[in-house]
Amino acid sequence: MRKPFVAGNWKMNTDSRSGVELAERIASGSAQTAGQEVTVAVCPPFVYLQAVAKALSASSIAVGAQDIYFEPKGAFTGEISTSMLKDVGCCYCLCGHSERRHVLGESDELINKKVTAAIAGGLLPILCVGELLEEREASQTNEVVTRQVKEGLAGLSAEKIPAVTIAYEPVWAIGTGLTATPQQAQEVHDFIRKLLAEMYDEEIAGEIRILYGGSVKPGNAADLMGRQDIDGSLVGGASLKADDFLAIIQAAV
Ligand code: PEP
Repeated sequence: MRKPFVAGNWKMNTDSRSGVELAERIASGSAQTAGQEVTVAVCPPFVYLQAVAKALSASSIAVGAQDIYFEPKGAFTGEISTSMLKDVGCCYCLCGHSERRHVLGESDELINKKVTAAIAGGLLPILCVGELLEEREASQTNEVVTRQVKEGLAGLSAEKIPAVTIAYEPVWAIGTGLTATPQQAQEVHDFIRKLLAEMYDEEIAGEIRILYGGSVKPGNAADLMGRQDIDGSLVGGASLKADDFLAIIQAAV
C-alpha cells in the first residue's frame, strides 16, 4: 500500500520570515495527518532550508531541496552537495524539475547523475518528468516520459530504486492554471508504472510513489489523487498559501 505524498515546491519565493511562518502554519494545521496518513514535505529555496528545517523539527513534515549537484565537494562555484543538504536537515531533493530542464537546460544525463548522487548520499530524490504542450499535441507524451524515466534512472539497481519518487508534471500545466484531467493524468501514471515494471518488476513498480504536479489546487486535488496510480501531488503555487496546501494535504488522506 503506497502512503500518499504531498510535496510543496516553493520555487524562488518567500523570505526568511515568511518562509518560517508558512512552515509553522503548515505544521500546526497538519499535525493530525502529516507523517501518519500522508507524507508531507516542503522544498524552500536553499538559503532558507536551515531555518525552515528548524521550524519543522518538532513536526513530521520533511524538508527537501529544489535541486542538488552531483559532485560531493570542490571547485563547483554556486553548487550545493548532498552532504551539505543533509547537514541542514534535508531528506528529499527534486531532480529534473521542468524549470531546470527547460529554463536552465538540464539534460537527462545530468539529471541521472543528480538522482544517483542523491541516493548515494542518503537523500530521497523526486525525479520530475513531463512533456511540453507541443509534445502532447504531437502524441509524444509516452515517448518523452519513457526517455526521461529510463535515462533519469539509468544504472540504478532494484535495491536503490525504492528511494525514488517520480513526479509526473506535464510542462503545459505547471504554473499555468491548466491542469491535466484526472483521466489524462491517470493514463500517464499507469504508463509510468508499467514502464517501471518492465525496468524492474511488478512488486517494485507497485511500491514507487508517482505524484502528479501541474496547477494542483484545493478544488482539483481530491479528484486527481483519487485515481488509482496517482499517489499524491507536487504542488507549486498553491503550496505558498498555507490554507490551500493544508486543504491539498487533507485531500490526499
Ligand atoms: C511545480 O512547481 O512543480 C508545480 C507543479 O507548480 P504549480 O503547482 O504552480 O503548477
